Amino acid sequence: MDKVTPKDRFQTNRDRAAPLLAKLKSEGISHLIGGKSVPSSMGQTFETASPVDGSVLATVARGNAEDIDRAAAAAAAAFKSWRDMPAAARKKLLHRVADAIEDNADDIAVLECIDTGQAHRFMAKAAIRAAENFRFFADKCAEARDGLNTPSEEHWNISTRVPIGPVGVITPWNTPFMLSTWKIAPALAAGCTVVHKPAEWSPVTADLLARLAKQAGLPDGVLNTVHGMGEEAGKALTEHPAIKAIGFVGESATGSAIMAQGAPTLKRVHFELGGKNPVIVFDDADLDRALDAVVFMIYSLNGERCTSSSRLLVQQGIADKFIERLTARVKALKVGHPLDPATEIGPLIHERHLAKVCSYFDVARNDGATIAVGGKPHDGPGGGHYVQPTLVTGATAKMRVAQEEVFGPFLTVIPFKGEKDAIEIANDVQYGLTGYVWTGDMGRALRVADALEAGMIWLNSENVRHLPTPFGGMKSSGIGRDGGDYSFEFYMETKHVSLARGTHKIQKLGLPSS
Ligand code: NAD
Repeated sequence: MDKVTPKDRFQTNRDRAAPLLAKLKSEGISHLIGGKSVPSSMGQTFETASPVDGSVLATVARGNAEDIDRAAAAAAAAFKSWRDMPAAARKKLLHRVADAIEDNADDIAVLECIDTGQAHRFMAKAAIRAAENFRFFADKCAEARDGLNTPSEEHWNISTRVPIGPVGVITPWNTPFMLSTWKIAPALAAGCTVVHKPAEWSPVTADLLARLAKQAGLPDGVLNTVHGMGEEAGKALTEHPAIKAIGFVGESATGSAIMAQGAPTLKRVHFELGGKNPVIVFDDADLDRALDAVVFMIYSLNGERCTSSSRLLVQQGIADKFIERLTARVKALKVGHPLDPATEIGPLIHERHLAKVCSYFDVARNDGATIAVGGKPHDGPGGGHYVQPTLVTGATAKMRVAQEEVFGPFLTVIPFKGEKDAIEIANDVQYGLTGYVWTGDMGRALRVADALEAGMIWLNSENVRHLPTPFGGMKSSGIGRDGGDYSFEFYMETKHVSLARGTHKIQKLGLPSS
């Protein structure tokens, strides 16, 4: 039998994408409101283009406050029956959504590549992980309402949880399909109905998710999707009185805006925001494994990853040698077409994002750091928004390239002397999402983990998501945690119920005076 070459697989991916893209172009993308595909009330649209070559992929409905109002009304109308559906039935439906995602995983993968520029080697697994999100929370439907029994002498005190109501989910453009299921699956498992506003730069697979969920039998109005701009549709969603909570993933500045927009309606918010995450490599670490993880955690997913380790803190004694090896690896990274299985870095999502990432080349130089690798746009297939993977050395902790989230394949290296120094530099940023520590000394690993101001720490490991664990950040990186039961804490209200055990004494007021 002939061996399947990477070239064959590239062609297979293209062949799979071609009819899907043709259909997308001819049909366009509508909102899904109350189970119906609908245009915007004012008929407005916008175009979504591929970062590979700038070609228009689809005309997309551009939602406004009226469309959000229709979607919120649909979510509110569906809420009571979804809330009261027996957990076993809800579980079955969510498993059917997972089945549908799995059945369409290859289509989702190629569409996500073309819509976002992410390399197929990563997107191939993204849909499978999205299905796992649905399965994990499907299996938790029954325990969502669990509470505590905290009896006192005179009362049985029981707590239970009830879904908060219709909720809004607002998502960004990086790995959009997988990320939106992180938010939507627990909300649905909790018994909430959802209005989803996906990012305007990546509407394609959000539309697919809504349609797959409908085909899988999710009742009308349980998941509604309204496309459009953040300042229009997104803002209206955060302000809508029928929407009880907003699960948001995106930039820290947008999180602040949403908090202000949601204040008049006392919106509950859950924020997963930006990061400038440190990976700290001590001289006693397994340096081969550390190097693999350092490269993977900033140059995978185009560096457009909130948990990327965008600052490498390396101990002085090993810095030169480690940077030399790192330089060789960064130079060898394969930038290319996202559907090519050999590609490690695809084009960035949008020309505006490319311009932002490229602006940091001058920032680095002006700050006095050295661009050791990269530092230019890349002329890639299709002529899209490609950038050279970039390595900045000779940086210090206060430089902008050590402080600001670039959100691209851009790594800043900062040497440190010892443990105390490393912790100080690591914490000296506004963000606090993740931290990665590489050392052979387990006592030190735990000490540093304890001292790092970040919501998630990996010791001698890259980021490996385990769904029951808490996911979220400190400081400007977020509010709240996702994952396992933590998600239910957000999407549900805890209710206290107290039952008198007997005839305890009740103060008698208003008795006739004797
Ligand atoms: P963004 O904040 O620009 O947009 C995110 C979403 O918010 C989009 O759907 C957008 O339309 C919407 N939006 C924008 N303004 C709004 C407003 N005023 N009201 C309501 N909605 C509004 O973020 P982005 O550029 O799409 O995504 C990149 C950012 O997301 C990075 O900072 C990254 O670190 C962060 N991110 C964080 C996590 C995490 O788990 N912490 C995960 C992924 C991405």
